[in-house]
Amino acid sequence: MSHRILLLGAPGAGKGTQSAKLAEEYGVEHVTTGDALRANKDMETEYGTPRSFMEAGELVPDPVVNEIVEAALADADGFVLDGYPRNLEQAEYLSEITDLDAVIYLDVDEEVLVDRLTGRRVCDECGANFHVDFQPPEEPGVCDECGGELIQRDDDTEETARERLDVFYENTEPVIEHFRDEGDLVEVDGEATPDEVFERIRGVLDE
Ligand code: AMP
Repeated sequence: MSHRILLLGAPGAGKGTQSAKLAEEYGVEHVTTGDALRANKDMETEYGTPRSFMEAGELVPDPVVNEIVEAALADADGFVLDGYPRNLEQAEYLSEITDLDAVIYLDVDEEVLVDRLTGRRVCDECGANFHVDFQPPEEPGVCDECGGELIQRDDDTEETARERLDVFYENTEPVIEHFRDEGDLVEVDGEATPDEVFERIRGVLDE
């Protein structure tokens, strides 16, 4: 089976963590709009820079994001796509540029998401994710993987995290409904350790 995997879920559901594991396990590309945009926060576009949207917890305009995804998917044989599509227009665009083999929704309760987001720390160097309580690094502030500095993302403050969750429920839940209606969606309970969730996803993909 080829692997063109779409991972859906709210901010904090574990998409980034699970995508990284999937990319390694199945030898596919990890395509993530969030990381791509963070690396290009000050890129000039006709809508302004991504930074202002991201710091407010809002969606970056579709044309900017669609272009990033199209370029990334054109270069990828198999992929795990994370952070896109976030609204129905993006879902429509995606259906025009590729076919998917699996669509997985990581289901996590809203209050768990807030706790995960506000306690999250990411490596400034390699992007690895940690959590101050649920997945602390061996040495506070230092990445276990590469020794880089762990920082809090600008948009992981409680206020912006809640805004991002509102944007998710308003714009992205319809995308999940869309895939559910098409009969393509597989739901995975995302409230477990990263390893347990990974085993569940692997079970789905290896079926
Ligand atoms: P993430 O790392 O996936 O939580 O994304 C961080 C931020 O990047 C989001 O809050 C948005 O501002 C922006 N972003 C990421 N992916 C998209 C997308 N598909 N469409 C619009 N904005 C996005």
